[in-house]
Amino acid sequence: MTKQISIGKKIYAIGSGWLNLARQKLGILDESIENEAVKRMAICLSCEKLKNGNFCGAGCGCYAPAKTLQNIETCPLNKW
Ligand code: SF4
Repeated sequence: MTKQISIGKKIYAIGSGWLNLARQKLGILDESIENEAVKRMAICLSCEKLKNGNFCGAGCGCYAPAKTLQNIETCPLNKW
């Protein structure tokens, strides 16, 4: 069962993830966020719901490398 969050919170989560992805590419991402995202991404990469290499197929359709870099939403299947 997937968790429901408000549309505003969802937009904030997406923005936060993509902003942190940009920070990661620039080498200015907080190390604790980076470390947590590495653990989450390892889980996603072994998940049967990951589609096309990087998109979560568990209902949200999120880009996993960005989703794993935010702290508003969690995995819809409670894997992280
Ligand atoms: S967010 Fe959860 S359900 Fe989606 S690909 Fe990652 S581990 Fe799988």
